[in-house]
Amino acid sequence: VPHAREGVAIQVHSSALEASEQRRMQLRQALPQAVQRGETSLHYQAKVALASGRTCGAEVLVRWTHPALGMVSPAEFIPMAEASGDILALGAWVLEAALATLSRWRREGLVDEAFSLAVNVSAHQLCRPGFVAEVHEALARYDVPPSALEVEVTESAVMTDLEVATLQLQQLADLGVSIAIDDFGTGHSSLAYLRRMPVDTIKIDRSFLTHLLDDAQSHRLVESIVAMAHGLDCRVVAEGIEAPAQAASLAAMGCEMGQGFWFARPQPVESFLPLLEEYR
Ligand code: C2E
Ligand code: MG
Ligand code: MG
Ligand code: MG
Repeated sequence: VPHAREGVAIQVHSSALEASEQRRMQLRQALPQAVQRGETSLHYQAKVALASGRTCGAEVLVRWTHPALGMVSPAEFIPMAEASGDILALGAWVLEAALATLSRWRREGLVDEAFSLAVNVSAHQLCRPGFVAEVHEALARYDVPPSALEVEVTESAVMTDLEVATLQLQQLADLGVSIAIDDFGTGHSSLAYLRRMPVDTIKIDRSFLTHLLDDAQSHRLVESIVAMAHGLDCRVVAEGIEAPAQAASLAAMGCEMGQGFWFARPQPVESFLPLLEEYR
């Protein structure tokens, strides 16, 4: 009898594995056509100035609705797209769609000169030789000033090829594009790169906020990150603010901006527009 049970357990286990492997295969197969089939869309999450509570920009987050599997999280498909190289076409589409939207908002007077849109850029994109020229060309075509665009790169993307990444980011900065380090504090990286790179913004990863209010060491750690960022002349954005007390605590530390469900969830353009009305 115990043997029979074991057999059943193993079978259940292996069919669960099969199901998740099948899902991955389904996603990998559909990913190269996702953009051209119109299955991708953008969500926008407000970036808020903590001192005033005003929305001063937004981050663009890609979404994929698979015809059979429904909404797939970027946490699941972005790593796949990076592995397969589909990230290049996907990233180009994200940049194009984001700039088209921003250009329209600017024309319609929904946002002013100071409003900026942040786009996530993966290691693959950043290290491609034509990347900076593509950004430059797209900005010109949509008549968007480079200062209205921010590029978010993770520490690990930067570390993939430090030399090429530094060069490309320098060229983007020379255009006038802002550079943000995303998920700061989670990557395995030497801090030395920060001094050599034209970084404008450091985004504190949301994992640092979990115990911000109930643990003195957590609090001091975040305080130290803010001080270090300011020492490097960087602005600080805190990610994942879910409670007003977190926002207040971060504001008291001098953290300039915040993002999180407390202020606004990432949302499609239709529901983001009312936020912009407020902004105006
Ligand atoms: P990220 O760039 O660090 O984006 C922030 C993530 O945190 C988003 O997840 C957002 O929905 C989530 N978030 C925001 N506020 C809160 C909060 O208060 N609480 C919690 N628990 N979560 C919050 P999302 O949209 O699932 O994106 C996940 C990651 O996928 C992004 O992390 C980014 O690394 C990547 N990603 C998304 N869009 C793109 C893209 O267009 N290109 C590239 N290369 N990567 C992207
Ligand atoms: Mg980001
Ligand atoms: Mg982040
Ligand atoms: Mg993060």
